[in-house]
Amino acid sequence: MYIHCICTFPIFESTLSRANLPRNMIENSMFEEEPDVVDLAKDSTFPALDPDEVAFEPRSSRLLVRGLGQHDMDEDEEDCESSARLLGMSFMNRSAAHRSSSSPYTRQAPPRSCSRPSGRTMIVCVLFLVIVASLTMVMYFLPGCNFTKRGCQRTNKTTPSEQVYPVSTNGELFPWAQLRLPRSIHPLSYDLTLDPDLDNMTFTGRTVISMSVLHNTKLIVLHSSHLNITKATFKPGDGEARDVTVLEYKPRQQIAVKFSEELKTGQYCVLTLDYSANLSHTYDGFYNSSYTDTDGNKRVLAATQFEPLAARKAFPCFDEPSFKATFLIRISRKPTYLTLSNMPQAKSTPLLNGLIQDEFEKTIVNMSTYLVAFIVANFTPISSHVSETQVSVYSVPDKKEQTDYALDTACKLLEFYNDFFEITYPLKKLDLVAIPDFLAGAMENWGLITFRETSLLVGKQSSNLEKQVVASVVAHELAHQWFGNLVTMRWWNDLWLNEGFATYMQYMSLQTVLPQLDIGNLFLAVRFRALDDDALNSSHAVSMDVNKPEQVEEMFDSVSYEKGASILLMLNASLPGDQQFRKGIIQYLKQFSGLNTDTNDLWNSLTQVFSAQHPNVSEMMSSWTSQKGFPLVTVSRKGGQVTLTQEHFLLTSDNATQTSSLWNIPVTYVTDNCSLAPECRQMFNLKTKSGKTQKSVKWLKLNYRNTGFYIVDYGDEGWAALISALSNNVSVLTQEDRASLIHNIFALSRLGRVSFHQVLNLLKYMSNETQTSPVTEALLQLNVLYQLLDQRQEHSLVARMKSYIKHQFASLMDKQTWKEEEEESVSKQELRSALLKMACSLNEEKCIKQARAQFKQYVESNGTLRIPGDLQQVVFTVAAQSNEDWETLLSMYGQATYDAEKRKMLRGLASTQDPRRIVWILKAGLRGGLIQTQELPLVIYTVCHGFAGYLFVWDFIQENWDSLIEKFPVGSFAIQTIIKSATSQFSTQAHLNQVEGFFSSLKERGSQMRSVQEALETIRLNQRWMDKNLPTLQKWL
Ligand SMILES: [Zn+2]
Repeated sequence: MYIHCICTFPIFESTLSRANLPRNMIENSMFEEEPDVVDLAKDSTFPALDPDEVAFEPRSSRLLVRGLGQHDMDEDEEDCESSARLLGMSFMNRSAAHRSSSSPYTRQAPPRSCSRPSGRTMIVCVLFLVIVASLTMVMYFLPGCNFTKRGCQRTNKTTPSEQVYPVSTNGELFPWAQLRLPRSIHPLSYDLTLDPDLDNMTFTGRTVISMSVLHNTKLIVLHSSHLNITKATFKPGDGEARDVTVLEYKPRQQIAVKFSEELKTGQYCVLTLDYSANLSHTYDGFYNSSYTDTDGNKRVLAATQFEPLAARKAFPCFDEPSFKATFLIRISRKPTYLTLSNMPQAKSTPLLNGLIQDEFEKTIVNMSTYLVAFIVANFTPISSHVSETQVSVYSVPDKKEQTDYALDTACKLLEFYNDFFEITYPLKKLDLVAIPDFLAGAMENWGLITFRETSLLVGKQSSNLEKQVVASVVAHELAHQWFGNLVTMRWWNDLWLNEGFATYMQYMSLQTVLPQLDIGNLFLAVRFRALDDDALNSSHAVSMDVNKPEQVEEMFDSVSYEKGASILLMLNASLPGDQQFRKGIIQYLKQFSGLNTDTNDLWNSLTQVFSAQHPNVSEMMSSWTSQKGFPLVTVSRKGGQVTLTQEHFLLTSDNATQTSSLWNIPVTYVTDNCSLAPECRQMFNLKTKSGKTQKSVKWLKLNYRNTGFYIVDYGDEGWAALISALSNNVSVLTQEDRASLIHNIFALSRLGRVSFHQVLNLLKYMSNETQTSPVTEALLQLNVLYQLLDQRQEHSLVARMKSYIKHQFASLMDKQTWKEEEEESVSKQELRSALLKMACSLNEEKCIKQARAQFKQYVESNGTLRIPGDLQQVVFTVAAQSNEDWETLLSMYGQATYDAEKRKMLRGLASTQDPRRIVWILKAGLRGGLIQTQELPLVIYTVCHGFAGYLFVWDFIQENWDSLIEKFPVGSFAIQTIIKSATSQFSTQAHLNQVEGFFSSLKERGSQMRSVQEALETIRLNQRWMDKNLPTLQKWL
């Protein structure tokens, strides 16, 4: 999946947003190194749970309930795991930091220094064990509670081996008490028949699942959500088919069939389920969408989005990534529609009711359920061929002429990947489809990739900057056809194996295939943002324990995507030559083709290939995937001796959060002797707390081109030497290295390591800076501070900051033109776009005048005269500040057909400072219609970054929370964006209390989300930064 990251626009953005995080009260006190304890403890901070909640709360139910001798699971792993939990598993996890990768049930150990429990941890663990033991005894002896739906009742005489089960919808006990499915049954193939009715927004279906019995069992458990099962039959091996009763337990979205006789290992059987359901009105499952065509007619369609947990909303299935099977799909439609699915169409059959049934070829590969897809719509395609594969791009008919670029790009990239991975894309067709309602950026369904319209469609006149967006998303989704589809993570804890790789490949492939898109700048900026996010104490390890549905949703975040991609880049950059890494991943893909993997499988594959040059790849990379955060490397020099020291870079750093985490860091550096060419780069492997080397040089710059995932502090002298070198000659370092110095010094100032005065000293060199990355990074960082000051209403400081920025960037701002030049590089467009956005947001007279003139011309030409793509945003934003032009923009928005432009208009509209309009646009976004609900996170994000808007948004979120989580799942990236946007501008105790109070009142409706912890930490950091730096700013600005 491609997350529509709103943070690629350098200006009007906050990074400090991701700055700060206090832990939950309980975490603070004593348990901060113990995730399992933390969750239990968190639960206890809220009023008593009702019995329903307890029944499906996996942690508590496991601790109290999971017995020994459960025949219906992989005994070894399960027992090991349940015993671990019974014994207070944190401790066991610690001593077994890396579990055997052969377990199909592997979950990663929690992050941090698990293998070396400190004295304090030991005490905490012993205390914890005592508490757990006492609690267990109290719970066991006192209430005799079975935690079922019927409430807390005494069960029939319980014995220790007896399991406590929840209650099905029909009142019978549901025979399975866990969130993960038992592994005794494995599906082999699904035969799906679907009959959607787009007039009534309903569908009926029949799912025939052939499966094999892996262990003797009396039970089949699978997923189903919001499906009304009308008939179920079961056929064992060669036996007769017979009707069976299906039990359902809705809170866990599971159904089960019980048998009186055991199904035997090795046996084959078939379960057939008939059902009916409504098409979903949200953005997942089998959902309906509509659009208005150029003649003003409303057209309806139906599409799917299953990742991560929604295939079960369209058909009953074993909805976990490791239950791979083949699929044969049939869908009926009206003659005026077409259907699409993962595979090419095999045949079409007219039905008696006037409809047509399309049947697709059976998949030739085993697929995870989240990759299944089908669409019923009246789209039109354009097609081309890459060797044996037909590549097509589909859109609504009115937008057909916007599909050329996507088709051309997809073909080029498919060719590249076929060659690069040395494994040919296995299907005969690859469809890319733009869907009018689509929440994510895109979804990599095998053979049928779905996109938001803005991620796939570009006009003929579009600028390269707009094409860059489309090419990035296409490159990401195509990479998934190998990373994710062919080789899939075993469970969502290792989502980064999908998303980190696809993100890395997206940048890597575009650098080669479409170098004119200058994708390097974007990748660098993305790595900076990943560092900012990961500096919070509330961040998480790349690979981490994931148990609840909300936790699965939460894995779709910058750690899985951008940090994942960053550590892969670091690994690649630490290897000699550029073919080693490629050979390693080819080995991994070939070894696990069609299978599921975990993180250790990847490192083991790479070790086989790298053994000569890099024998410890597994040891090195585990330090980056199994613990949260990243290191701060401090350089100190005495004579010719250079000492490097590492520590955890943690913005919220106090006694409660201190860690002894160490990373295995491939430190790279260049010196004044040789600093630009790749050959200048030298390496130093820092594994321990500190290391020494000999260098007699004027200065050192670490983290060459910022390919490593760490921040560097050079100390007063080191910074002074670098600043002096840059003042003499900007070109003494690459532009990536200059941007990296700027990013690092702001981060260090946030941490309190360097004074703000020192930051300003470095920025002095900027008067000679002309390259995109250093300028955009400096503008972004200054803008964060500017906005915080603005919203704290520090008027005099705001005025001084404004004149500082104007003065610092005046000559560069003056040089920008308002015309698109022939053959203009993307990098140049990015630079211009960032500078002019900043100039206009500071109310720079010339900028405002130009922007208004451009808007006037555009309106007068009736939209025929085009504003250059990179300038549209600034022009629309300026226009939206005037009453009359806001109305004009709104009416143009209603008619615009070109989605990239339309989205910029929306951002303009949402940047209004008029309170009535702010309230209107928030409501319109929630309601859907003129402004699609999928755009609400963007609207909220934009409103929050205006002076007037952030308080309105905070009220809006509190009042409409239930509607929001109905549209966007708890924990999803959309909800993460909304929470972050709404709270990142707060910097006072009063706001902190409000945010804390509101979210803790939500309980199961979102109080446990990581983004809430991030929001609280960010507000505290903002508060701390303000307290500490306001006097400094008064002095230096
Ligand atoms: Zn993805």
